[in-house]
Amino acid sequence: MNLLSPLEKVKGVGPKTAEQFKAAGLFTVGDLITFLPRTHEDFSEVVPILDIHPGKATIRARCEKISTRPVRRGLRLTTAVLADNTGKLQAIWFNQPYRETQLKGGEEFYFSGEFEFNYNRYQLTNPSAEKVSDMPVQTDRLLPVYRAIKGLKSQLVRKILAELRPLMTMLPETLPAETVRAEKLMPYADAILGMHFPKTTDDIKKARERLAFEELFQLLVASQLNRLANAKLTGWHIPFDQPVVAAFVRKLPFELTRAQRQAAWEIIQDFEKKTPMNRLLQGDVGSGKTVVAGLAARQAAHGGFQTALMAPTEILASQHAETLRQLLEPFGVSVGLLTGGVKGTARKVLYEQIQNGGVNVVVGTHALIQQGVVFHKLGFVVIDEQHRFGVQQRQELLKKSKHMPHLLAMTATPIPRSLALTVYGELDVSILNELPKNRKPIATRIWSPNSRPQLYQAIDEEIAKGRQAYVICSLIDDNPDNEAKSVQAEYKRLKNSVFKHRKIGLLHGRLKSDEKDEVMTRFSEGSLDILVSTTVVEVGVDVPNATVMMIEDADRFGLSQLHQLRGRVGRSSHQSHCYLVMSDSSKPSERLKYIERSNDGFYLAEVDLRLRGPGEIYGRSQHGALNLQIATLSDTKLIARAQKQAKSFARHPENLLQYKQLAAQVEKYQRLTTLN
Ligand code: ADP
Ligand code: MG
Repeated sequence: MNLLSPLEKVKGVGPKTAEQFKAAGLFTVGDLITFLPRTHEDFSEVVPILDIHPGKATIRARCEKISTRPVRRGLRLTTAVLADNTGKLQAIWFNQPYRETQLKGGEEFYFSGEFEFNYNRYQLTNPSAEKVSDMPVQTDRLLPVYRAIKGLKSQLVRKILAELRPLMTMLPETLPAETVRAEKLMPYADAILGMHFPKTTDDIKKARERLAFEELFQLLVASQLNRLANAKLTGWHIPFDQPVVAAFVRKLPFELTRAQRQAAWEIIQDFEKKTPMNRLLQGDVGSGKTVVAGLAARQAAHGGFQTALMAPTEILASQHAETLRQLLEPFGVSVGLLTGGVKGTARKVLYEQIQNGGVNVVVGTHALIQQGVVFHKLGFVVIDEQHRFGVQQRQELLKKSKHMPHLLAMTATPIPRSLALTVYGELDVSILNELPKNRKPIATRIWSPNSRPQLYQAIDEEIAKGRQAYVICSLIDDNPDNEAKSVQAEYKRLKNSVFKHRKIGLLHGRLKSDEKDEVMTRFSEGSLDILVSTTVVEVGVDVPNATVMMIEDADRFGLSQLHQLRGRVGRSSHQSHCYLVMSDSSKPSERLKYIERSNDGFYLAEVDLRLRGPGEIYGRSQHGALNLQIATLSDTKLIARAQKQAKSFARHPENLLQYKQLAAQVEKYQRLTTLN
C-alpha cells in the first residue's frame, strides 16, 4: 500500500464507505492522510457536573430528557437534561434537532461546549457529543475532530486512519532538508501523526506550525517563481506622452487626489518598461480607481494600443463603459461595450471593430477574453474587482496578443498592506489611501427593527430633497428556513404601502441581464427614487446622487461586506447615511459596532481579520490563491519566516526538481496566484 492506493485497499473500507469518501473528494490513501482534523477536543479534563465553572467545559454524562421546539421562524431549540453521579445540568442546541435521536437511549457521552449564562440560566451551549464507547481504545485524550463526511460516522473515519498509522510513520520529508533545519520544523511524518494522533497539546501546536509553514512556503515559492516568469516576458513599450496626460487631467471635473496621481504615475512608468506590468491597484470604495484606469487607457490609446476592461458583472461593465465614454470620447478614444445583451448584428459589428482596431477600449465581463474575440493590438488589460484571473487567463491573453499586455487588477477588498505584500509577492501594489476631498464620512448607525417607521421617514425626507436610496436585503425570495428579509417581499411591501408615492425598482442576480441594465440605468439617471436590491450592488456601482442606504438584517453580513455595500453611498458632497437594521432587538455585536465607528476599509479589514480569521474573509469562494487549509494570514511572524525561506529557495528554481510533492503544490499555487 502506498499514498496512491485507492481507499478500498485499506482494511475496513468497503465499496459503500469508499463511495462516501469519494463523494467528499477523498480517493486515495494520500488524500485521507492529508485530511486533517478541523480541531481537537480535549477530553483530558473531564469535570464532574458538581464542579463545573463558566467557560469551556467537558463532562461525562447521560442524557435524561431531551426535546425540541420551534422558537421563531428559522430557529429550533433543542434542550436536554444531562446527568452524572454528582448532579444535573441543562444543555441547549440551536437548530440541531438530530441531537434527539443521537442522545436518546441512555448511553454515556462526553459533552464539550461552553458553559454560559443564556436565557436566564447557566447551561452548556451547543456542546459536541462523543459516545464514550466510541472513544479510541488508546488512552489518548485529545480527540481529532474531522469535517463531517456524509454517511460516515466520525468514529469509523478515526478507525480507518488508525489503520494507516504505520504508513504515516514512514512518510518522507516534503520540505527541503535545509529549510526544515533552518526553521527547526517538525519532520513531515511527525506532523501528520501529531495532527491525527496527538499525545499532548504541544504536539498539535508544533504539527500545525510545521504544516502551516509548509503551505505558506509553497504559496510564496509559487509567487516568487511567477515573478521570475513575468520578468522573462517582453511587454509592449507604451511611451509616456506628457501633453496627452496633462490634457486628460485638465478636462476632469475634479482634481485628482495625490494618491491617484501617484498610482497613475506608477502605471505610466510600468508602461515604458520592457517587462509587462503586473500590478494591483488597491483602494477603498469610492477612492476613485476608475479614473486612474481611464488615464492609463488614454495613454495606451495614444500609443496605438487597445485596452480591455473586465468587470465582474454586466451591470458594472455597462457602468464602466458609460464612465469611460465620458472620460475618453472627448479625446477621440472610442469605447465599446461587449456583454451578453449585445446580440446579432450589433455583436458582429463590435467583433469586427475590435479586430480591425476600430474601437480603442472594450469593456465587458471576463467573457471578453474567453470567447472568440480577436483584438487588433491589445496593450492594456484592466481587471476590476475580480479575484479569478490566473495562468489560464493569462495564456488566453498571450494567444490574443503577440506580447503579454500590461495587467492592472483593481480591488476594493482591503487586504491589509502587510498581507498584500507578502501574499501577492509577485505583484507590484499601488494603494489609493485617501478619498477625494469633497467627501463627508458616511453617517452610520445601528438600528433595532422597530425603528423602521422612523427610518422610512428619514429616507422619504432625503428623497424629497432630490436624493435617492438603496434598501438592501440578503435574500432574493422569502425562504421558510431563513427568516431574513427578501428583496421580492420588501419590494412589494414598500411599493404598496410605505413608499406608495415614490418610484421603486427591484434588482437581484436572477434578473436577465437586460432587465438588470434597465433598472440600473433608471436608477442612475434618477428616474427611480429607491432601489431594493441584494448584494449585487455591492461591487463598484456608482450613483453619486444616492445618499441613503438601509441594510436589512445587517448582522448577517461580514464587516468588509458591509463596508463595501455602504460604499455605494457617500460618493458626492452631500451628507450620506447608512442604516444598519438588526434582524432582531438583541444587543448589537461588538463586530457591528466597529462599522458604526469607522469609515476606513483597511482598518475594518484588520478588525475582521482579527475577529473572524482570514478563512472567513478571504474565503475559498473569494480568493483561490488564499485557499489555505491550516495557515492563517494573520500569522505575520510565520509568513515572514516562510517568505525568507521561499526567497532563498527560489534563487535556484532547478532545485524544485528534487522535491516532487513540493513541485506539484507549487505548480497548483502558481496557476492560482499569477494575478488574483
Ligand atoms: P472606486 O474606487 O470605488 O471604484 P470610482 O472609480 O467608482 O471609485 O469613483 C467614485 C466616484 O468618485 C466617481 O463618481 C468618480 O467620478 C468620483 N471621483 C473620482 N476621483 C475623484 C476626485 N479626485 N475628486 C472627486 N471625485 C472623484
Ligand atoms: Mg470601482
